[in-house]
Amino acid sequence: MSKLINITIDGREIKALTGDTILETAIKNGIEIPNLCYNKKVSHTAACRLCIVKIKGSPRIIPSCTITVEEGMIITAFDEELEELRKMLLEMALSTHNDDCINCTKDGTCDLQDLAFRYNLGKKERELPAIWEELDNQNDSSAQVLEYDPSKCIQCQLCIKACKEIQGKSHLSMINRGIETVIGTGHKMWVDSDCDGCGECVQICPVGAITEKQIYGNERIRQKDIEKITTTTCPYCGVGCQLDIATKKIQGKETVIKVTGSEQIPNYGRTCVKGRFGLDFASSSKRLTKPLIRKKGELVEVEWDEAIDYTASKLAEIKEKNGADAIAGLASARCTNEENYMFQKFFRSVIGTNNVDHCARLCHASTVAGLASTLGSGAMTNSIKELRDAKVIFVTGSNTTETHPVIATNIKYAIRNGAKLILADPRKIDLAKYATLWLRQKSGTDVAWINTILNVIISEGLENKEFIAERTENYEAMKEIVAKYKPEDYEKITGIKAEDIKTAARLFAGTDTGSIVYSMGITQHSNGTDNVKSLANLAMITGNIGRESTGVNPLRGQNNVQGACDMGALPNVYPGYQKVVDEASQAKFEEAWKTKLSSKMGLTIVEIMNAACNGDIKAIYIMGENPMVSDPNINHVKKALESLELLICQDIFLTETTQLADVVFPATSFLEKDGNFTNTERRVMPIKKIVDSPGEAKDDWQIIQNLAQGMGKYWSYNSIKDIIDEINKVTPQYGGITFDRIQNGERLQWPCPTITHPGTKYLHKGTFARGKGLFSAVDHTPAAELADKKYPFVLMTGRILYHYHTCTMTRKTKSLPKYVKDAYIEMSSADIKELGIKDGDMVRVSSRRGTIETKVADTGIKLRKGDVFIPFHFAEAAANKLTNDVLDPVAKIPELKVCACKIEKINMEGLCPQSPNLGYSKRE
Ligand code: SF4
Repeated sequence: MSKLINITIDGREIKALTGDTILETAIKNGIEIPNLCYNKKVSHTAACRLCIVKIKGSPRIIPSCTITVEEGMIITAFDEELEELRKMLLEMALSTHNDDCINCTKDGTCDLQDLAFRYNLGKKERELPAIWEELDNQNDSSAQVLEYDPSKCIQCQLCIKACKEIQGKSHLSMINRGIETVIGTGHKMWVDSDCDGCGECVQICPVGAITEKQIYGNERIRQKDIEKITTTTCPYCGVGCQLDIATKKIQGKETVIKVTGSEQIPNYGRTCVKGRFGLDFASSSKRLTKPLIRKKGELVEVEWDEAIDYTASKLAEIKEKNGADAIAGLASARCTNEENYMFQKFFRSVIGTNNVDHCARLCHASTVAGLASTLGSGAMTNSIKELRDAKVIFVTGSNTTETHPVIATNIKYAIRNGAKLILADPRKIDLAKYATLWLRQKSGTDVAWINTILNVIISEGLENKEFIAERTENYEAMKEIVAKYKPEDYEKITGIKAEDIKTAARLFAGTDTGSIVYSMGITQHSNGTDNVKSLANLAMITGNIGRESTGVNPLRGQNNVQGACDMGALPNVYPGYQKVVDEASQAKFEEAWKTKLSSKMGLTIVEIMNAACNGDIKAIYIMGENPMVSDPNINHVKKALESLELLICQDIFLTETTQLADVVFPATSFLEKDGNFTNTERRVMPIKKIVDSPGEAKDDWQIIQNLAQGMGKYWSYNSIKDIIDEINKVTPQYGGITFDRIQNGERLQWPCPTITHPGTKYLHKGTFARGKGLFSAVDHTPAAELADKKYPFVLMTGRILYHYHTCTMTRKTKSLPKYVKDAYIEMSSADIKELGIKDGDMVRVSSRRGTIETKVADTGIKLRKGDVFIPFHFAEAAANKLTNDVLDPVAKIPELKVCACKIEKINMEGLCPQSPNLGYSKRE
């Protein structure tokens, strides 16, 4: 615990905090001791020595970043001798520094330039050693997103520390000696290294040595050209990183010129490669700018009035003829809370059906079902930052480094501080390098291996008896089921050695700050709800829930999948998870929306597609989703969409799905509108209108309102404030998350029921949302489709770092396709050898539902023999042509993680194979 002490700097009496260095104390008190290698986010290096001071009683001159303050210290920060020494040190730094400031993008924002100016050190004729001239020519611009100029490097080591200590990666180090010292990646060229382009080194470099390539805009821009910085929320994954978007007016248009991580919750400056370098899709020339209607088989541009009138009258006609339940809608985890609220309200109050769903069905429907029934709330129980203080972290079914990169940095931080990581994943993913224990389970056996852990905990008496007695129910039923799950008996089924299960059980039961982190490796199964319930069992039996740094933490995939669920874009619940079959809830919303509502449960995504194929659904309205790539069994989806009388799509680009549409509405991107996303930790965070939208694109909520008005409803929302006001009234968890509080910079976590409520950092404190936590007695059931003689491989699908969902945005960026351009299948070296193929060969992959052709990536031992993995992003070799649309009976989530397939070599004649550049995925 820090306490205040008294020190003196240059005769000024100062209150200092114990634990702070002299330099930190000086900075906090506005005393500008020069420095080049200090940054409060990393450990101190004392490389530049500029922060030297004298301490009374000490014979030496010392760097102030290395000494912590002590009571009564008397410090001299500035005198003639210190200033002369600083000048000399700066002269030394400048003597080997390429001072071609005119051509440097850091000109005007460079710390070295500032100090040279402060100490009046002008450009000098220098006799440079020959080696320096060599360095001058050694610019490495091979990397996809950044450049390294060793002639500008001052060896402050901040980039090395940022890579290691902030991002947890350690890809950089100092190499060579003396004047030849430069930053090295361990490879001749940066592009060949393990660097994944997160850009933390660019963000921290105080000079122009590591700079980003020109990603945004068409002009080369210096940092000092930045005119405005607006903080907004990343549009990619559910972490919800806050980004500082720098803009400048170019030819009268506000233009994005740079993106940096904002020093705010939840990312505190960090981003991944997508957030920092992957936002230029918004300025793509391929953006939709006018409404389109299909005429004579072609999509042609029309005016907004025609598009709205046509769509409204067609919807009215279909409703009149077939009833409201013949129409269905897919809302969007990419759109804002306000837009999803409007979308589900449109379906319920204008169309008159609960047939509204969205892609949460395909990722975390089993989380919502499993956690709501066991704990009373289907959301992440704790906060991202709390992971940093967990003593044991149990990650399963989440390739966190690639799918939630900034959350992975928190996990790695905890590990650096002594936490133990237990990882359960069928693939040897990046986190395996950091794990105390890696369990390689067979895909589809999660209930079995978790039950064996529960069995060990009970048989060794490691359960938290007090917690179980006071806070839970149904323990005996669970105990009875898991009694038969002896680890030795399940080795063959789960693929995990009994000894490893015992170690995992002892580790997790032995801590009082154990966090469980999981994602779609757990949820996307035909028994996904049972998998989730098993993890809830594990948290409750060890008492690791309801306190800080514990809990069951599902990582939501897309930027606003949490918000879309919260806003009721689901067929069974209104906003705030109020059930449509509950009479009181129905009456509440009928009163709020002044209309009669349907009490019939709506259809889920896969059911909607089935009903379209059967002719029961005649029209589908899709806002910002691309089921022709993202949904299972795409051939079936195509048949469904083609059999409709009316397909309405609303998007920012033409996608594989919009190309089948009868009407396409052009929508604005996250950079062009106001609104809110709710991230994976239940935190509501705003996006801001920063640039103008292209052509006639409109905000999604405005399009929905126009359509409601076209169908005779008097909707008159003037801004998102009007929508937020209504959300506050009808959604208990969002009652206190008002427009004004959001505008005032509060980043609240629901539940936040009143305007004075501070928000909820972690759930289930003292009591579970449902009262007592419910243990579930769940039994292992095999996956719906197992490998057999005809289809001998088990296919898993998932995401990779460099692309997002169906690539609608990431493939429109300059930088991300440079890392991974197109589709591939990950295979083990053993299988590759057995099939007589090699890395880069083309293969045909077939399941009972379809066939694709793709390139082979030899991933060594990353995969168990017999397992294969395909990223689902790529339309040209869409993994979802193969996947199984069999559903979990409760959550109706399809089994995307287990499907039997076969692999055949394609005759290579005439083809020019090229090994895919896998970046992270390829590393072993
Ligand atoms: Fe965006 Fe997620 Fe990357 Fe953060 S971690 S920058 S939210 S994609």
